[in-house]
Amino acid sequence: MTDTVKYVLDETHIPKRWYNIMADLPSPPPPVLHPGTKQPVGPDDLAPLFPMSLILQEVSTDREIDIPEPVREIYKQWRPSPLYRARRLEKALQTPAKIYYKYEGVSPAGSHKPNTAVAQAFYNKEAGVKKITTETGAGQWGSSLAFAGALFGLEIKVFMVRVSYNQKPYRRALMETYGAKCIASPSNETQSGKAILAQRADHPGSLGIAISEAVEIAATNDDTKYALGSVLNHVLTHQTIVGQEAIEQLAMAGDYPDIIVGCTGGGSNFAGIAFPFIGAQLRGGKKVKVIAIEPTACPSLTRGKYAYDFGDTGHLTPLVKMHTLGSTFTPPGFHAGGLRYHGMAPLVSHCLQLGLIEAKSYNQIECFSAGVQFARAEGIVPAPEANHAVKGAIDEAIRCKTEGKSKTILFNLCGHGHFDMQAYTDYFAGKLTDQSYEESELAMALAGLPSVTA
Ligand SMILES: *Cc1c(COP(=O)(O)O)cnc(C)c1O
Repeated sequence: MTDTVKYVLDETHIPKRWYNIMADLPSPPPPVLHPGTKQPVGPDDLAPLFPMSLILQEVSTDREIDIPEPVREIYKQWRPSPLYRARRLEKALQTPAKIYYKYEGVSPAGSHKPNTAVAQAFYNKEAGVKKITTETGAGQWGSSLAFAGALFGLEIKVFMVRVSYNQKPYRRALMETYGAKCIASPSNETQSGKAILAQRADHPGSLGIAISEAVEIAATNDDTKYALGSVLNHVLTHQTIVGQEAIEQLAMAGDYPDIIVGCTGGGSNFAGIAFPFIGAQLRGGKKVKVIAIEPTACPSLTRGKYAYDFGDTGHLTPLVKMHTLGSTFTPPGFHAGGLRYHGMAPLVSHCLQLGLIEAKSYNQIECFSAGVQFARAEGIVPAPEANHAVKGAIDEAIRCKTEGKSKTILFNLCGHGHFDMQAYTDYFAGKLTDQSYEESELAMALAGLPSVTA
């Protein structure tokens, strides 16, 4: 039997609670600091940006957080997402390894992002918020929040990194279809955008800049809050629905992973699939090898510094301790727009420090090559970001073959690439290059890290 096997659960199996890894970590991550006083922030400091319910989740140490029933109702449209055993890929690779992938591309926006977008829109609506601003790279997050905003009747304004705005017009059209407004960043709508444009009129933008623009508008308007699609604790917690479902689906298959692979931009889909397994390990369960895969052109976990830094380029956000390339770092314009962030989720960084996970980087051409091999075996065309996870999983499967070991590999196929076909066209035309960042630019961005005496 070499065909793909699908493990499906009915909607009664959608988890009733998100999992919060804070409860199981041997030590807590370093505190979030106020950018002015450099003292730990309290819930009130964050109140201009987020509804209190989300702030309390951000600092919660409860192991389980109830998923509100209206959110579970919406999840039913596409959850539980399928888990597949990639038998045809295994055969193509002639590997003794078993490869499973959780497919998050079945959501309306085509990625894992609606898992948190729907939750965040729900809590904002509940708090009486009318408008939400946000940033987006490739447009996956912007379109997910636009979808959630449409369901809850919220006005959504999205600052989209300019290079992606130009590369991916269909993601912008999708946001507009859901009723959101999409603006190329840096823009003239904010002080932080204007300051960047004054330095460089053709600036390609970065997630750090787009975050500054969105935060600035939320901080200066009472009826407006801000939403972030990754990095923050509550976002990672919302994504754990992915790993929790995977545990149950693998049990149906009579299996458990030895190796878990995910791609990391800000760390949310990776944490979503991995944290429930890491938590089980920390509570005495089986040890898992967990690998975060990032692009060589934006390598926060493998080349960044573990230090306090701003989440944005305009220095409006609190300081968080994370692996960072420096908040002014602008990565080259490679196609995996969702992986172009200068920092990493503090919880993922902390797990790397604790030795609970490993990190590895790949160039974009080898990732596209892996994605094409995957599509030809399994039929699903991965998003350019997801190709990093595919490449990581394939390399582990090949290692199993070389070492003659049969291991169970699980990876997160976090989104489909249907809006990214221009990137595939470029790949087939031989137009993709493995762009590297300038070492001098990285050194300069790291030299600009804020000084914090712990
Ligand atoms: C946004 C996005 C990413 C990167 O964000 P994480 O928080 O690291 O998951 C990766 N893949 C896809 C498909 C995305 O939309």
